Amino acid sequence: MVKIFCIANQKGGVGKTTTTVNLAAGLAKVGQRVLMVDLDPQGNATMGSGVDKRKLALTIYDVLLESATVAEARVKSDKLVEGGCSYDILGANRELAGAEVELVDVERREKRLKTALAEVAADYDFILIDCPPSLSLLTLNGLCCAHGVIVPMQCEYFALEGLTDLVNTIKQVHANLNKDLAIIGLLRVMFDPRITLQQQVSEQLKSHFGDKVFNTVIPRNVRLAEAPSYGLPGVVFDPSSKGAQAFVAFAEEMVARIEKPLA
Ligand code: ATP
Ligand code: MG
Repeated sequence: MVKIFCIANQKGGVGKTTTTVNLAAGLAKVGQRVLMVDLDPQGNATMGSGVDKRKLALTIYDVLLESATVAEARVKSDKLVEGGCSYDILGANRELAGAEVELVDVERREKRLKTALAEVAADYDFILIDCPPSLSLLTLNGLCCAHGVIVPMQCEYFALEGLTDLVNTIKQVHANLNKDLAIIGLLRVMFDPRITLQQQVSEQLKSHFGDKVFNTVIPRNVRLAEAPSYGLPGVVFDPSSKGAQAFVAFAEEMVARIEKPLA
């Protein structure tokens, strides 16, 4: 059965897109069938998967407005196929910013993505949704169709504070719209073990959230930051880099968690 995960954190620039594309590539590398959904009008996950967002004929915008199906709008990336870590892409561009307004008056507006993804569920082991840095109607569409949320976070002083809003939103969606929704885990990203504060926050996270904190830690790694400018996930751009290796380990951890769910 397909597992649908949102990669969400309303804070900007915390590593959501980097996590989405590299986890997608990592899962593909270990043999999983993956669809990556870009739910952010910035279209970074689309570009970072080697797809030019400006040249897309159909995007998630058309899917949300029900003028196209996912099967019609999804694309493959030649670069990912060449790199041997191919996943399908439901892309986004700035057109998506308009969906927020256009959906306001329609029925089931928060369930549009759920309905659309149900039709392709059998094609995939994982569907990963890159959310925008807000708790908007777009993010809500993601949360309504997901089994769980992966929260990338930097181990910084304000990290825990920002988490409260997200946890409350997830609780509300769980109570009112999607009984399946759970926090799958917190992923420590851009981690630098030489910084004492990061170690302290990391320990705090573990004592607050226990085994909801993933074992894998993603280090700060310049190759991960360089990869998007080549239109590639770090996992494909430089597989031997520390960052790429960490994301493949994270993909393996995800697969193991799915096979042996937490009690
Ligand atoms: P937004 O909220 O704008 O969507 P985001 O949460 O998706 O941002 P990213 O775009 O993934 O965040 O990352 C922000 C910046 O940090 C990018 O320039 C990215 O290349 C860089 N970055 C992310 N993870 C790492 C890492 N582990 N090491 C080094 N740089 C990283
Ligand atoms: Mg992003």
